[in-house]
Amino acid sequence: MSFEQTIRSAIEFSGVGLHSGAPVQMRILPAPAGSGIVFRRVDLDGFVVEAVGKNVAKVSYATSLMKKGVLISTTEHLLSALLGLGLDNAIVDLDSLELPILDGSALPIVQAVLSAGLRRQRRKRVYMCIRREVEVRDGAKSIAVYPADSYRIHYCIDFPHPLIGNQEFTVELTNGSYLRQIAPARTFGFLRDEAALRNMGLIRGASEANAIVLTDEGIKNPPLRFPDEFVRHKVLDLIGDLALAGRRIQGHVIAERAGHAMHTALVQRLMRDRSAWELAHVYDEVPEPAEVGVGAGELAETLAVHA
Ligand SMILES: [Zn+2]
Repeated sequence: MSFEQTIRSAIEFSGVGLHSGAPVQMRILPAPAGSGIVFRRVDLDGFVVEAVGKNVAKVSYATSLMKKGVLISTTEHLLSALLGLGLDNAIVDLDSLELPILDGSALPIVQAVLSAGLRRQRRKRVYMCIRREVEVRDGAKSIAVYPADSYRIHYCIDFPHPLIGNQEFTVELTNGSYLRQIAPARTFGFLRDEAALRNMGLIRGASEANAIVLTDEGIKNPPLRFPDEFVRHKVLDLIGDLALAGRRIQGHVIAERAGHAMHTALVQRLMRDRSAWELAHVYDEVPEPAEVGVGAGELAETLAVHA
């Protein structure tokens, strides 16, 4: 049986937003059991925006939340890191509208949370257990979730680039696999799209320090952290977007050429289709190493290889 968890003590980050380029301070603080992940805009009198599906706003190159006109942008990497660590409850303070991009992966967050430590709370974790297939399809793009006895993800992407092409990745989120296989994977972008995206007001904070920059033939800032870092990053994004379901999923997710819009469309479908899942405790889930407090140092060492 798994219990809800929060962070032991506050941690702080500063950086810039990937799309806005705006400087931002972010603090992750402990929160009571049952609160979930809650964002607070400290620059707007602490206005609260909960990380749940009903607050999903616009979704194109990143996932954003909005409540009463107040925006929280690019939530996917942080939410992915917290879910991957088994951290259920936290307050995330921001003094601007977009989360810091850091190194483009979930690694800096994972490392900082591991050093602060996790605290087990007195409430049993409730999972969203998938009971029936739910699928969203849009031409060649699709995403579906099926009943399964753990949280598993299979992702395939196809980009016409010599370093990407067809990449597939399968992961079961147990036993530290998120921390080792997914968290270090960085976001990526194509140099040939840069001008157009900047004209749309996007990627103003992007640099070779926070994204894999793809030229027509290769990459501008080698080395890659994994040969298939691209599809691993898509898995990272998917986990962060599906965290907006508000509960840890127990099911098998299969995504093909999907992106933030498809990921969040699946969350909306799940929210509407209450008969496709039920809330339940899970008795036999293997806890993540970070949750049982062992191997955090060892994990931090493994992760440092990528830093
Ligand atoms: Zn991403």
